[in-house]
Amino acid sequence: MSILEKMNPADIIAIEDQHGAHNYHPLPVVLNKGEGVFVWDVEGKKYYDFLSAYSAVNQGHCHPKIVDAMVSQAQTLTLTSRAFYNDKLGVYEKFVTNYFGFDKVLPMNTGAEAVETALKICRKWAYEKKGVAEKQAQIIVCANNFHGRTTTIISFSNDENARKNFGPFTDGFIKIPYDDIEALEKAIASSPNIAGFLVEPIQGEAGVYVPSEDYIAKAKDLCTKYNVLFIADEVQTGIARTGSLLAVCGNCTCEKACEKQNTFAQPDILILGKALSGGAYPVSAVLANNEIMNVIKPGQHGSTFGGNPVAAVVAMAALEVVSEENLAQNARKLGKIFREELNKYIQTSSIATLVRGKGLLNAIVINDTEESDTAWNICMKLAENGLLAKPTHGNIIRFAPPLVMSEAQLLDCITIITKTLKEFEI
Ligand SMILES: *Cc1c(COP(=O)(O)O)cnc(C)c1O
Repeated sequence: MSILEKMNPADIIAIEDQHGAHNYHPLPVVLNKGEGVFVWDVEGKKYYDFLSAYSAVNQGHCHPKIVDAMVSQAQTLTLTSRAFYNDKLGVYEKFVTNYFGFDKVLPMNTGAEAVETALKICRKWAYEKKGVAEKQAQIIVCANNFHGRTTTIISFSNDENARKNFGPFTDGFIKIPYDDIEALEKAIASSPNIAGFLVEPIQGEAGVYVPSEDYIAKAKDLCTKYNVLFIADEVQTGIARTGSLLAVCGNCTCEKACEKQNTFAQPDILILGKALSGGAYPVSAVLANNEIMNVIKPGQHGSTFGGNPVAAVVAMAALEVVSEENLAQNARKLGKIFREELNKYIQTSSIATLVRGKGLLNAIVINDTEESDTAWNICMKLAENGLLAKPTHGNIIRFAPPLVMSEAQLLDCITIITKTLKEFEI
């Protein structure tokens, strides 16, 4: 037995505090096991996971199919680098492009790397295909976005805490309000140098802001009209989380991203991460068709670990689980129940004012200021009552359980959540 297993939670928290950078502020819960919708702490207490590692664990913790794929590949070949071929990457590339309906994929590891990759492809496309003059390309982004933590990505964030003293920043971004189609048209039409529009179909980190029903489809139409790339960051919303394979699929739960229904907006560049591996391994991807992806030539972009054989088999297993277990359909069904039940409670609640979301990406708004610690205190109480969730922004709590949850489990969780909220009624 290792020395760690004998330590109590306070000791474990203390060593992190002493030896780890303080770039997070976790709830004081120390986990050492997960299975499906549950996680356990080091003292054996069982919790419902209502964060799913920010929607990376859509397929549930330690899904046996994903773990099996990972373990057997890890015992065979883990990394070749892209200096050579490996026998899994091409198979995965064919699988994932067919699954999402694109010609090509560029494999990376984290969400932020995939966003960076998409921005680079978009700029290169603008110079080499659209004919934008050197160094003039502009990419439109939305206020309150979250796309990751690199210097370029925080250059167009408006979270001051994420930006302060990290400058100088990268130029070439125009920020417009989210869910404002007129602002988008104005920005797109303002200059021939607009290369792309980068958007989250639902703003997760900002507090689960769901735009108007037709916003994404209209945004895509404007991009097409002005020859601007429509870039969807589905790192959090993608892979069944919002009740369809992708959030851009609107109201369709089939296993393929396709053009079957009118709310569908095919991205020119699709960015995936998080649940692409079911939380087992860092796997991200950028998908696009040939006329866009072919602007990237050997030596112009890369990653030592991107496209490694473990990532390839893990991602294939993770996507198979999504279709085999009808996770989009389940997310849609349970999400509806969740919002209906929470809405019933909110009618008479003085502490929760609103529930919003799509599929199993939901949030409740707490009746207190953004700076208050009420949402944090509620999350502490939820943990005590056996359910783990985390505030996104001051007074907003996100609820995003693994999509393998059963209806009975969800009803159990709704009871825990409403019971806990009632303890905060004034
Ligand atoms: C989490 C997230 C990212 C960044 O992913 P990392 O793997 O943390 O780098 C990018 N975009 C969105 C929408 C996300 O939710």
